[in-house]
Amino acid sequence: MSRSSELFTAAQAHIPGGVNSPVRAFRAVGGEPIFFKRGEGAYLIDADDRRFIDYVCSWGPLVLGHAHPEVIDAVVETARSGLSFGTPTEVEIALADKVVEIMPSIEKVRMVSSGTEATMSALRLARGFTGRDRIVKFEGCYHGHGDSLLVKAGSGALTLGVPPSPGVPASLAEHTLTLSFNDADQVHEVFSEMGDSIAAIIVAPVAGNMNCVLPEPGFLEALRAVCDAHGTVLIFDEVMTGFRVGLAGAQAHYGVNPDLTTLGKVIGGGMPVGAFGGRADIMDHIAPDGPVYQAGTLSGNPVAMTAGLTTLNVITSQSDFYPRLSQRTAALIDGIQEAGRAAGIPIAANQAGTMFGLFFTDIPKVGSFTDVMACDTARFSAFFRAMLTEGIYLAPSAFEVGFLSAAHGDAEIEATIEAARKALRTL
Ligand code: PLP
Repeated sequence: MSRSSELFTAAQAHIPGGVNSPVRAFRAVGGEPIFFKRGEGAYLIDADDRRFIDYVCSWGPLVLGHAHPEVIDAVVETARSGLSFGTPTEVEIALADKVVEIMPSIEKVRMVSSGTEATMSALRLARGFTGRDRIVKFEGCYHGHGDSLLVKAGSGALTLGVPPSPGVPASLAEHTLTLSFNDADQVHEVFSEMGDSIAAIIVAPVAGNMNCVLPEPGFLEALRAVCDAHGTVLIFDEVMTGFRVGLAGAQAHYGVNPDLTTLGKVIGGGMPVGAFGGRADIMDHIAPDGPVYQAGTLSGNPVAMTAGLTTLNVITSQSDFYPRLSQRTAALIDGIQEAGRAAGIPIAANQAGTMFGLFFTDIPKVGSFTDVMACDTARFSAFFRAMLTEGIYLAPSAFEVGFLSAAHGDAEIEATIEAARKALRTL
Protein backbone atom coordinates (compact mmCIF):
# COMPACT_ATOMS: atom_id res chain seq x y z
CA MET A 1 0.00 0.00 0.00
CA SER A 2 1.36 3.45 -0.84
CA ARG A 3 2.04 5.96 1.93
CA SER A 4 -0.62 8.19 0.35
CA SER A 5 -3.18 5.42 0.66
CA GLU A 6 -2.22 4.81 4.28
CA LEU A 7 -2.62 8.49 5.03
CA PHE A 8 -5.99 8.64 3.28
CA THR A 9 -7.24 5.71 5.38
CA ALA A 10 -5.99 7.41 8.55
CA ALA A 11 -7.48 10.77 7.53
CA GLN A 12 -10.96 9.33 7.14
CA ALA A 13 -11.09 8.36 10.81
CA HIS A 14 -11.50 11.91 12.08
CA ILE A 15 -11.85 14.18 9.04
CA PRO A 16 -15.11 14.07 7.03
CA GLY A 17 -14.25 12.38 3.74
CA GLY A 18 -10.59 12.53 4.76
CA VAL A 19 -10.25 16.06 3.37
CA ASN A 20 -10.73 19.63 4.55
CA SER A 21 -12.28 20.85 1.28
CA PRO A 22 -14.48 18.56 -0.84
CA VAL A 23 -12.94 18.83 -4.32
CA ARG A 24 -9.65 17.50 -2.92
CA ALA A 25 -11.29 14.10 -2.43
CA PHE A 26 -11.04 13.15 -6.17
CA ARG A 27 -14.73 12.09 -6.18
CA ALA A 28 -15.25 13.71 -9.62
CA VAL A 29 -12.41 11.76 -11.23
CA GLY A 30 -12.41 8.56 -9.21
CA GLY A 31 -9.62 7.03 -7.17
CA GLU A 32 -8.03 8.30 -3.99
CA PRO A 33 -6.55 11.73 -3.34
CA ILE A 34 -2.77 11.99 -3.28
CA PHE A 35 -1.15 13.31 -0.10
CA PHE A 36 1.68 15.76 -0.71
CA LYS A 37 4.51 16.74 1.58
CA ARG A 38 6.57 19.34 -0.30
CA GLY A 39 6.42 21.89 -3.08
CA GLU A 40 9.38 23.17 -5.11
CA GLY A 41 8.76 25.75 -7.82
CA ALA A 42 6.55 24.11 -10.46
CA TYR A 43 6.69 20.73 -8.70
CA LEU A 44 4.78 18.93 -5.97
CA ILE A 45 6.36 15.95 -4.19
CA ASP A 46 3.96 13.38 -2.76
CA ALA A 47 4.16 11.25 0.37
CA ASP A 48 5.74 8.47 -1.74
CA ASP A 49 8.42 10.79 -3.14
CA ARG A 50 6.89 10.99 -6.62
CA ARG A 51 7.31 14.36 -8.40
CA PHE A 52 4.50 16.03 -10.34
CA ILE A 53 4.39 19.20 -12.41
CA ASP A 54 1.60 21.06 -10.66
CA TYR A 55 -1.11 23.04 -12.49
CA VAL A 56 -3.29 23.56 -9.42
CA CYS A 57 -0.87 25.88 -7.59
CA SER A 58 -2.90 25.57 -4.37
CA TRP A 59 -6.01 26.49 -6.43
CA GLY A 60 -4.46 29.71 -7.67
CA PRO A 61 -2.50 31.53 -4.96
CA LEU A 62 0.99 30.32 -5.92
CA VAL A 63 1.60 32.48 -8.98
CA LEU A 64 5.32 32.50 -8.06
CA GLY A 65 5.40 28.72 -7.68
CA HIS A 66 5.86 26.63 -4.53
CA ALA A 67 8.11 27.80 -1.70
CA HIS A 68 9.40 30.90 -3.48
CA PRO A 69 12.58 31.77 -1.53
CA GLU A 70 11.80 35.48 -1.05
CA VAL A 71 8.30 34.75 0.21
CA ILE A 72 9.46 31.99 2.56
CA ASP A 73 12.32 34.10 3.96
CA ALA A 74 10.02 37.07 4.58
CA VAL A 75 7.40 34.88 6.27
CA VAL A 76 9.97 33.16 8.51
CA GLU A 77 11.53 36.48 9.47
CA THR A 78 8.12 37.97 10.33
CA ALA A 79 7.03 34.87 12.25
CA ARG A 80 10.03 35.25 14.57
CA SER A 81 8.42 38.41 15.96
CA GLY A 82 5.07 36.71 16.63
CA LEU A 83 2.24 35.28 14.56
CA SER A 84 -0.66 37.53 15.41
CA PHE A 85 -1.31 40.43 17.76
CA GLY A 86 -4.96 41.31 17.10
CA THR A 87 -3.81 44.93 16.85
CA PRO A 88 -3.00 47.15 13.87
CA THR A 89 0.46 46.56 12.37
CA GLU A 90 2.54 48.46 9.81
CA VAL A 91 2.58 45.71 7.18
CA GLU A 92 -1.24 45.98 6.82
CA ILE A 93 -0.80 49.55 5.59
CA ALA A 94 1.85 48.45 3.11
CA LEU A 95 -0.39 45.72 1.62
CA ALA A 96 -3.46 48.01 1.50
CA ASP A 97 -1.40 50.73 -0.22
CA LYS A 98 -0.04 48.19 -2.70
CA VAL A 99 -3.53 46.92 -3.59
CA VAL A 100 -4.86 50.45 -4.03
CA GLU A 101 -1.86 51.35 -6.20
CA ILE A 102 -2.39 48.28 -8.41
CA MET A 103 -6.22 48.46 -8.72
CA PRO A 104 -7.46 51.99 -9.40
CA SER A 105 -11.12 51.12 -8.67
CA ILE A 106 -10.17 50.33 -5.05
CA GLU A 107 -9.95 53.41 -2.83
CA LYS A 108 -10.21 51.60 0.49
CA VAL A 109 -9.72 47.93 1.31
CA ARG A 110 -10.47 45.67 4.31
CA MET A 111 -8.44 42.47 4.86
CA VAL A 112 -10.12 39.19 5.83
CA SER A 113 -8.90 35.58 5.93
CA SER A 114 -10.54 33.88 2.92
CA GLY A 115 -12.29 34.54 -0.36
CA THR A 116 -15.56 33.33 1.15
CA GLU A 117 -15.31 35.93 3.90
CA ALA A 118 -14.54 38.60 1.31
CA THR A 119 -17.64 37.89 -0.82
CA MET A 120 -19.94 37.48 2.21
CA SER A 121 -18.74 40.79 3.62
CA ALA A 122 -18.97 42.62 0.29
CA LEU A 123 -22.58 41.46 -0.09
CA ARG A 124 -23.52 42.60 3.41
CA LEU A 125 -21.91 45.94 2.66
CA ALA A 126 -23.80 46.30 -0.64
CA ARG A 127 -27.06 45.43 1.12
CA GLY A 128 -26.34 47.82 3.99
CA PHE A 129 -25.32 50.60 1.60
CA THR A 130 -28.38 50.30 -0.65
CA GLY A 131 -30.95 49.23 1.97
CA ARG A 132 -32.01 46.41 -0.43
CA ASP A 133 -31.93 42.62 0.04
CA ARG A 134 -32.00 41.15 -3.45
CA ILE A 135 -28.81 40.14 -5.27
CA VAL A 136 -28.00 38.83 -8.74
CA LYS A 137 -25.38 36.17 -9.42
CA PHE A 138 -24.62 33.96 -12.43
CA GLU A 139 -24.92 30.25 -13.04
CA GLY A 140 -21.57 28.46 -12.82
CA CYS A 141 -19.95 31.27 -10.83
CA TYR A 142 -18.76 30.10 -7.41
CA HIS A 143 -18.20 32.82 -4.85
CA GLY A 144 -17.34 30.75 -1.79
CA HIS A 145 -19.78 28.94 0.45
CA GLY A 146 -21.70 31.82 2.05
CA ASP A 147 -25.45 31.17 2.36
CA SER A 148 -26.60 33.93 -0.02
CA LEU A 149 -24.17 32.79 -2.68
CA LEU A 150 -24.67 29.06 -2.50
CA VAL A 151 -27.89 29.31 -4.47
CA LYS A 152 -29.10 27.67 -7.70
CA ALA A 153 -31.30 29.22 -10.32
CA GLY A 154 -35.03 28.61 -10.03
CA SER A 155 -36.84 27.31 -13.11
CA GLY A 156 -36.86 30.73 -14.83
CA ALA A 157 -34.85 33.89 -14.60
CA LEU A 158 -37.41 35.65 -12.47
CA THR A 159 -38.16 32.79 -10.09
CA LEU A 160 -36.84 32.52 -6.56
CA GLY A 161 -33.41 31.07 -5.90
CA VAL A 162 -33.24 27.49 -4.61
CA PRO A 163 -30.87 26.32 -1.85
CA PRO A 164 -28.57 23.62 -3.34
CA SER A 165 -27.40 22.53 0.10
CA PRO A 166 -29.30 21.53 3.22
CA GLY A 167 -28.67 24.23 5.81
CA VAL A 168 -29.18 27.19 3.47
CA PRO A 169 -32.53 28.74 4.53
CA ALA A 170 -35.03 29.03 1.66
CA SER A 171 -36.01 32.42 3.09
CA LEU A 172 -32.47 33.64 2.43
CA ALA A 173 -31.97 31.90 -0.94
CA GLU A 174 -35.11 33.58 -2.27
CA HIS A 175 -33.27 36.92 -2.29
CA THR A 176 -30.71 35.57 -4.77
CA LEU A 177 -31.50 35.62 -8.50
CA THR A 178 -29.26 33.36 -10.59
CA LEU A 179 -28.95 34.38 -14.25
CA SER A 180 -27.02 33.00 -17.23
CA PHE A 181 -23.40 34.13 -17.54
CA ASN A 182 -22.88 36.09 -20.78
CA ASP A 183 -26.63 36.69 -21.28
CA ALA A 184 -26.92 40.50 -21.19
CA ASP A 185 -30.51 40.39 -22.53
CA GLN A 186 -31.62 38.41 -19.51
CA VAL A 187 -29.92 40.90 -17.19
CA HIS A 188 -31.79 43.77 -18.91
CA GLU A 189 -35.07 41.87 -18.61
CA VAL A 190 -34.61 41.27 -14.88
CA PHE A 191 -33.53 44.84 -14.19
CA SER A 192 -36.44 46.33 -16.12
CA GLU A 193 -38.75 44.27 -13.89
CA MET A 194 -37.14 44.73 -10.48
CA GLY A 195 -33.84 46.64 -10.86
CA ASP A 196 -34.63 49.19 -8.16
CA SER A 197 -34.86 46.43 -5.54
CA ILE A 198 -31.50 44.81 -6.38
CA ALA A 199 -28.65 45.60 -3.98
CA ALA A 200 -25.82 44.06 -5.97
CA ILE A 201 -24.69 42.12 -8.98
CA ILE A 202 -21.82 39.82 -8.07
CA VAL A 203 -19.89 38.26 -10.95
CA ALA A 204 -16.59 36.53 -11.54
CA PRO A 205 -15.50 38.62 -14.56
CA VAL A 206 -13.81 35.51 -15.94
CA ALA A 207 -15.72 32.50 -14.69
CA GLY A 208 -13.08 30.13 -13.31
CA ASN A 209 -15.31 27.70 -11.45
CA MET A 210 -17.06 26.18 -14.47
CA ASN A 211 -13.66 25.44 -15.92
CA CYS A 212 -12.74 28.73 -17.67
CA VAL A 213 -15.35 30.85 -19.46
CA LEU A 214 -14.50 34.33 -20.73
CA PRO A 215 -16.95 37.24 -20.77
CA GLU A 216 -18.41 38.00 -24.22
CA PRO A 217 -17.59 41.49 -25.48
CA GLY A 218 -20.16 43.86 -23.97
CA PHE A 219 -21.32 41.59 -21.13
CA LEU A 220 -19.38 43.27 -18.30
CA GLU A 221 -20.18 46.68 -19.81
CA ALA A 222 -23.90 45.80 -19.73
CA LEU A 223 -23.62 44.93 -16.04
CA ARG A 224 -21.93 48.26 -15.37
CA ALA A 225 -24.68 50.12 -17.24
CA VAL A 226 -27.64 48.49 -15.45
CA CYS A 227 -26.00 49.01 -12.06
CA ASP A 228 -25.47 52.70 -12.86
CA ALA A 229 -29.06 53.06 -14.03
CA HIS A 230 -30.56 51.41 -10.92
CA GLY A 231 -28.23 52.41 -8.07
CA THR A 232 -27.09 48.77 -7.75
CA VAL A 233 -23.59 47.95 -6.48
CA LEU A 234 -21.45 46.09 -9.05
CA ILE A 235 -19.15 43.58 -7.34
CA PHE A 236 -16.39 41.88 -9.31
CA ASP A 237 -15.33 38.73 -7.53
CA GLU A 238 -11.64 38.74 -8.43
CA VAL A 239 -10.67 36.19 -5.77
CA MET A 240 -9.37 34.03 -8.61
CA THR A 241 -8.72 36.56 -11.40
CA GLY A 242 -7.00 39.25 -9.30
CA PHE A 243 -3.22 39.28 -10.05
CA ARG A 244 -3.88 36.28 -12.35
CA VAL A 245 -5.57 37.53 -15.54
CA GLY A 246 -3.05 40.36 -15.36
CA LEU A 247 -1.63 42.49 -12.58
CA ALA A 248 -4.80 44.53 -11.98
CA GLY A 249 -7.10 41.60 -12.63
CA ALA A 250 -9.94 41.21 -15.09
CA GLN A 251 -11.23 44.74 -14.48
CA ALA A 252 -8.11 46.23 -16.07
CA HIS A 253 -7.99 43.58 -18.80
CA TYR A 254 -11.58 44.25 -19.89
CA GLY A 255 -11.61 47.95 -18.98
CA VAL A 256 -14.71 47.84 -16.75
CA ASN A 257 -14.54 49.17 -13.20
CA PRO A 258 -16.72 47.63 -10.49
CA ASP A 259 -17.88 49.49 -7.37
CA LEU A 260 -16.48 46.78 -5.09
CA THR A 261 -13.87 44.09 -5.71
CA THR A 262 -13.29 40.91 -3.72
CA LEU A 263 -9.81 39.43 -3.62
CA GLY A 264 -8.25 36.21 -2.29
CA LYS A 265 -5.74 33.57 -3.38
CA VAL A 266 -2.70 35.48 -4.82
CA ILE A 267 -3.19 38.38 -2.37
CA GLY A 268 -2.12 35.98 0.40
CA GLY A 269 0.73 34.36 -1.53
CA GLY A 270 -0.27 30.96 -0.06
CA MET A 271 -1.37 32.21 3.39
CA PRO A 272 -5.06 32.68 4.32
CA VAL A 273 -5.93 36.18 3.09
CA GLY A 274 -8.96 37.67 1.40
CA ALA A 275 -9.95 41.30 0.94
CA PHE A 276 -12.80 43.46 -0.22
CA GLY A 277 -12.48 47.04 -1.31
CA GLY A 278 -13.69 49.71 -3.69
CA ARG A 279 -15.36 53.11 -3.70
CA ALA A 280 -14.57 55.04 -0.52
CA ASP A 281 -18.18 56.25 -0.13
CA ILE A 282 -19.32 52.60 0.01
CA MET A 283 -16.41 51.33 2.14
CA ASP A 284 -17.10 54.11 4.67
CA HIS A 285 -20.26 52.19 5.63
CA ILE A 286 -18.12 49.43 7.18
CA ALA A 287 -17.57 49.37 10.97
CA PRO A 288 -16.04 51.23 12.77
CA ASP A 289 -16.68 54.17 10.41
CA GLY A 290 -20.16 52.99 9.49
CA PRO A 291 -22.97 50.74 10.71
CA VAL A 292 -22.31 47.60 8.59
CA TYR A 293 -20.61 45.12 10.91
CA GLN A 294 -17.63 43.03 9.86
CA ALA A 295 -14.65 41.82 11.91
CA GLY A 296 -11.99 39.08 12.22
CA THR A 297 -9.64 37.83 14.97
CA LEU A 298 -6.82 37.00 12.55
CA SER A 299 -7.63 39.59 9.86
CA GLY A 300 -4.51 41.40 8.66
CA ASN A 301 -2.16 39.27 10.77
CA PRO A 302 1.47 40.14 10.04
CA VAL A 303 2.60 36.76 8.72
CA ALA A 304 -0.18 36.48 6.14
CA MET A 305 0.19 40.15 5.15
CA THR A 306 3.93 39.62 4.63
CA ALA A 307 3.38 36.61 2.38
CA GLY A 308 0.95 38.60 0.24
CA LEU A 309 2.99 41.78 0.14
CA THR A 310 6.21 39.96 -0.76
CA THR A 311 4.40 38.06 -3.52
CA LEU A 312 3.04 41.29 -5.02
CA ASN A 313 6.44 42.99 -4.68
CA VAL A 314 8.18 40.16 -6.54
CA ILE A 315 5.54 40.31 -9.30
CA THR A 316 5.72 44.08 -9.74
CA SER A 317 9.54 44.04 -9.81
CA GLN A 318 9.34 42.25 -13.20
CA SER A 319 7.77 44.28 -16.00
CA ASP A 320 7.35 41.26 -18.27
CA PHE A 321 5.82 39.01 -15.58
CA TYR A 322 2.33 38.63 -17.06
CA PRO A 323 3.26 38.71 -20.78
CA ARG A 324 5.83 35.97 -20.11
CA LEU A 325 3.44 33.77 -18.15
CA SER A 326 0.59 34.35 -20.60
CA GLN A 327 2.82 33.35 -23.51
CA ARG A 328 3.83 30.14 -21.74
CA THR A 329 0.20 29.41 -20.91
CA ALA A 330 -0.70 29.86 -24.59
CA ALA A 331 2.16 27.55 -25.63
CA LEU A 332 0.89 24.89 -23.22
CA ILE A 333 -2.66 25.09 -24.56
CA ASP A 334 -1.49 25.04 -28.20
CA GLY A 335 0.68 21.99 -27.55
CA ILE A 336 -2.09 20.05 -25.83
CA GLN A 337 -4.64 20.92 -28.55
CA GLU A 338 -2.15 19.82 -31.19
CA ALA A 339 -1.63 16.55 -29.30
CA GLY A 340 -5.43 16.17 -29.21
CA ARG A 341 -5.67 16.62 -33.01
CA ALA A 342 -2.91 14.03 -33.51
CA ALA A 343 -4.88 11.57 -31.36
CA GLY A 344 -8.18 12.42 -33.07
CA ILE A 345 -9.59 13.96 -29.88
CA PRO A 346 -11.06 17.47 -30.20
CA ILE A 347 -10.10 19.76 -27.32
CA ALA A 348 -11.42 23.31 -26.96
CA ALA A 349 -9.55 25.80 -24.80
CA ASN A 350 -9.96 29.18 -23.12
CA GLN A 351 -7.24 31.33 -21.62
CA ALA A 352 -7.21 34.43 -19.44
CA GLY A 353 -3.63 35.42 -18.64
CA THR A 354 -2.19 32.70 -16.40
CA MET A 355 -5.50 30.77 -16.16
CA PHE A 356 -6.51 28.15 -18.70
CA GLY A 357 -9.37 25.77 -19.39
CA LEU A 358 -9.32 22.61 -21.53
CA PHE A 359 -12.61 21.06 -22.66
CA PHE A 360 -13.24 17.67 -24.23
CA THR A 361 -15.87 18.81 -26.72
CA ASP A 362 -16.59 19.45 -30.41
CA ILE A 363 -17.83 22.96 -29.58
CA PRO A 364 -15.09 25.19 -31.02
CA LYS A 365 -15.59 28.01 -28.49
CA VAL A 366 -16.96 27.26 -25.04
CA GLY A 367 -18.80 30.41 -23.93
CA SER A 368 -21.57 29.45 -21.54
CA PHE A 369 -22.54 27.21 -18.63
CA THR A 370 -24.58 25.09 -21.07
CA ASP A 371 -21.51 24.61 -23.30
CA VAL A 372 -19.45 23.55 -20.29
CA MET A 373 -22.10 21.07 -19.15
CA ALA A 374 -22.08 19.46 -22.62
CA CYS A 375 -18.39 18.49 -22.32
CA ASP A 376 -17.25 14.89 -21.94
CA THR A 377 -16.43 14.60 -18.23
CA ALA A 378 -15.73 10.85 -18.43
CA ARG A 379 -13.03 11.56 -21.02
CA PHE A 380 -11.61 14.29 -18.80
CA SER A 381 -11.41 11.85 -15.87
CA ALA A 382 -9.53 9.32 -18.02
CA PHE A 383 -7.19 12.11 -19.22
CA PHE A 384 -6.67 13.28 -15.63
CA ARG A 385 -5.65 9.79 -14.51
CA ALA A 386 -3.39 9.23 -17.52
CA MET A 387 -1.69 12.60 -16.86
CA LEU A 388 -1.14 11.65 -13.22
CA THR A 389 0.62 8.50 -14.40
CA GLU A 390 2.85 10.74 -16.55
CA GLY A 391 3.69 12.95 -13.54
CA ILE A 392 1.34 15.86 -14.26
CA TYR A 393 -1.03 17.08 -11.53
CA LEU A 394 -4.16 18.72 -12.96
CA ALA A 395 -7.16 19.84 -10.91
CA PRO A 396 -9.25 16.75 -10.12
CA SER A 397 -12.43 17.96 -11.85
CA ALA A 398 -13.50 18.84 -15.39
CA PHE A 399 -15.00 22.06 -13.97
CA GLU A 400 -11.82 23.54 -12.52
CA VAL A 401 -9.45 25.91 -14.22
CA GLY A 402 -5.68 25.34 -14.56
CA PHE A 403 -3.05 27.75 -13.24
CA LEU A 404 0.48 28.47 -14.35
CA SER A 405 3.20 29.93 -12.14
CA ALA A 406 6.41 31.81 -12.86
CA ALA A 407 8.28 28.62 -11.97
CA HIS A 408 6.79 26.78 -14.97
CA GLY A 409 9.57 27.19 -17.52
CA ASP A 410 9.86 26.00 -21.11
CA ALA A 411 11.16 22.62 -19.91
CA GLU A 412 8.03 22.02 -17.79
CA ILE A 413 5.73 23.13 -20.60
CA GLU A 414 7.43 20.80 -23.09
CA ALA A 415 7.37 17.90 -20.60
CA THR A 416 3.64 18.50 -20.03
CA ILE A 417 2.86 18.54 -23.76
CA GLU A 418 4.84 15.33 -24.22
CA ALA A 419 2.92 13.77 -21.30
CA ALA A 420 -0.36 14.89 -22.91
CA ARG A 421 0.64 13.23 -26.22
CA LYS A 422 1.13 9.94 -24.39
CA ALA A 423 -1.95 10.34 -22.20
CA LEU A 424 -4.25 11.22 -25.14
CA ARG A 425 -3.09 8.17 -27.10
CA THR A 426 -4.39 5.96 -24.26
CA LEU A 427 -7.93 7.42 -24.30
N1 PLP B 1 -14.64 33.48 -5.25
C1 PLP B 1 -14.06 32.83 -6.26
C2 PLP B 1 -14.15 33.37 -7.66
C3 PLP B 1 -13.35 31.66 -6.01
O1 PLP B 1 -12.76 31.00 -7.03
C4 PLP B 1 -13.27 31.17 -4.69
C5 PLP B 1 -12.56 29.90 -4.38
O2 PLP B 1 -12.19 29.12 -5.22
C6 PLP B 1 -13.90 31.89 -3.67
C7 PLP B 1 -14.57 33.04 -3.98
C8 PLP B 1 -13.83 31.41 -2.25
O3 PLP B 1 -12.55 31.60 -1.75
P1 PLP B 1 -12.02 30.72 -0.50
O4 PLP B 1 -11.93 29.33 -0.97
O5 PLP B 1 -10.70 31.37 -0.15
O6 PLP B 1 -13.03 30.91 0.59
